[in-house]
Amino acid sequence: MTRKQLPHIALLGTGGTIASTAGAATALADYSVTEGIEALLTAVPEITTLADIRCEQVFNVDSRCVTGKMLLKLAARLDSLLADPAVDGAVITHGTDTLEETAYFLNLTIKSGKPIVLTGAMRPGSALSADGPLNLYNAILLASRREAWGRGVLVMLNDRVHAARFVTKTNTTQVETFQSSGQGSLGQIVNGRLHLYQKSEKLHTLDTQFSLAGVRKLPAVDIIYDHQDAGPHLYDASIASGVQGIVVAACGNGSLSPQAEKGLKRAVKHGIACVRCSRSGSGIVTASPNDARRGLISGDSLNPQKARILLMLALTLSRDRDTIQSCFDRY
Ligand code: ASP
Repeated sequence: MTRKQLPHIALLGTGGTIASTAGAATALADYSVTEGIEALLTAVPEITTLADIRCEQVFNVDSRCVTGKMLLKLAARLDSLLADPAVDGAVITHGTDTLEETAYFLNLTIKSGKPIVLTGAMRPGSALSADGPLNLYNAILLASRREAWGRGVLVMLNDRVHAARFVTKTNTTQVETFQSSGQGSLGQIVNGRLHLYQKSEKLHTLDTQFSLAGVRKLPAVDIIYDHQDAGPHLYDASIASGVQGIVVAACGNGSLSPQAEKGLKRAVKHGIACVRCSRSGSGIVTASPNDARRGLISGDSLNPQKARILLMLALTLSRDRDTIQSCFDRY
């Protein structure tokens, strides 16, 4: 392929460990964001053989600092770049701690079939065996490929391709942290070759009903973690702060402690949309025949942090319990 024929990929930087450095090559924690997206690209000259890259820094933070406002800014920028016929796909570098939340948000809101790939790193750029450079190379390779079109937002780390809907961070420090528990990854890149084996059946991108046009602020949604001997005060605090939604990280198959049950009952009375998810880490919270009577929504297989993303978006459409439940059934 001549240089002229290379795909055009937009590379958007948002920060994270991939853009961080520490004081020593052996330091794998206690680092901070120091590098811009241009520097990350320059560090991997091999990328110039894959694609023509247009770089942009959208923000540059540790991903624990990402806000709803930043998600809206990133989605707007991505939408307008992908609407340009000269752009063939996009890669976003992001901190791994909340990468799955941003990926799922974009998966539900971006109106494009072009490849959108998020990547990051578990080790700072200054580390021995830093994983960022190969992750970035593989992410660009994936975004450049025709086979990646129409698959929704993808996450590429540690050689694996994951669907945004299913992937989650499972380990605090290890490079194999991203897993799609229960479903498996969509494929992998081995020795520079892409192998894709499956597609997510859940609706995404062009097939969702969400639109961010005119949305200036996302509805406030809290997550409350349930446990033995829980108190009702966290529910009262959420109600008092004026949230529109609560996701409860409930026990097992969405079981609620007696005080969580009471707290949610009060929240529902205040018109707050309440979703039951699980703190178990994998599996489906099965819909209960009692959900509708109690005004509750079951969260399917979404973990609490992803359920919060979907609930925020569902609340931009409606506050009706059944309408929101149908979003959880489909997305
Ligand atoms: N704290 C970092 C972040 O999420 C972790 C990482 O990127 O791996 O921004």
